[in-house]
Amino acid sequence: MKSIIKAGICTAVTAAVVVVMAGLVPVTALAVPISPEMGTKLAGKTVFLDPGHQGASHTESLAKQVSDGRGGTKDCQTTGMTTVNGVPEHTINWDVAQLVRASLESLGARVVLSRQDDTGWGGCIDDRANAANQSGAAVAVSIHADSAPAQFSGFHVIQPELPILDPAIDRIQSGAGRAAVTAMRDAYVQAGFKPATYAGVQEGVQTRKDVAGPALTAVPLAFVEMGNGGNADDAALLESKEGQLKHAIAITTGLVGFLLSSPTPAGAPALTGSAADRPAAAPAAPQIQAAPAAPQVQAAPQAQTAPQAQTAPTVPGAPQSPAAPQLKTAPGTQPAPTAPGTGATANLVGTILQLLMPLAGSLGLDSTVATSALLNLAYTLAGGLLSPAK
Ligand SMILES: [Zn+2]
Repeated sequence: MKSIIKAGICTAVTAAVVVVMAGLVPVTALAVPISPEMGTKLAGKTVFLDPGHQGASHTESLAKQVSDGRGGTKDCQTTGMTTVNGVPEHTINWDVAQLVRASLESLGARVVLSRQDDTGWGGCIDDRANAANQSGAAVAVSIHADSAPAQFSGFHVIQPELPILDPAIDRIQSGAGRAAVTAMRDAYVQAGFKPATYAGVQEGVQTRKDVAGPALTAVPLAFVEMGNGGNADDAALLESKEGQLKHAIAITTGLVGFLLSSPTPAGAPALTGSAADRPAAAPAAPQIQAAPAAPQVQAAPQAQTAPQAQTAPTVPGAPQSPAAPQLKTAPGTQPAPTAPGTGATANLVGTILQLLMPLAGSLGLDSTVATSALLNLAYTLAGGLLSPAK
């Protein structure tokens, strides 16, 4: 049984690796065994995703003045930054948002986006806040990346300076909004991202009054600056499929943590106490030090809810790409499939499994070992990520 489950993990995680390596190849009719339990974890919850900025094909005026939520006005939009390698922020934000959407939907959430594509206009900041307010969302996230001098790096989450003019928005952003910001910050730290140390960021959080979105949004909002596109290392993570998946899982983990209000998993690094108390560079979650490619596998008491270890997850019509054939192999019914034998792929497998650990904790699963429930989660997310774009 142990070896069957282990083989299943390899298959599930390899499926996610295929996403990373092939760049979200559309796979039709992928029949991964998504567990009903995992697929309803966020049932009844709506999440508003705002991938910052917009595509270049529009004729709108960015300088049009709109409410800043503080009694003044500001520009309707900005273009966003461009990384040191020339990749526009709006595309990075869009790509990460699509991964977050797929992950949330695979867990049963309803997702509403602020813009519908990455080519044209996506609305002024006040339009997007209104859309969030009317979406019925329990939480909203604005997804951005920063532009700062090259020596600065790291993520931060923006929260609005209080009080906010509108009493109802002030109540929401000072209460649940702060909790959403904290959950997002904690998820980023658990995922191994380093908090930024520039522009007044404290413990991964920056308090501002010049960002209008949070002051106009009556939904608890986390405004994420994933990294600094002006820094070579941050830019590489923002641009790569692997890095975008890492950001997306961190954002998903933060949202799930807020929505399900789970405590921080034991042993996870938490940003509490003074700056001197915490490591200067947030370490990867402790379990990353455990051999990632060979996770401990517990006996599976939940065997009946585990993805059918005896039943083949068939993939009708899967492309015959060299990286994909293991998707057609049923865990346990064939010789154990192994990840394509490169060290880089083995590292990716380990990385993705580790990335899922804090998310498993937020979902109330055992986040210290690769249980069948975690396997279920991996299948669920892989299924969502591999689904054809809607
Ligand atoms: Zn931005």
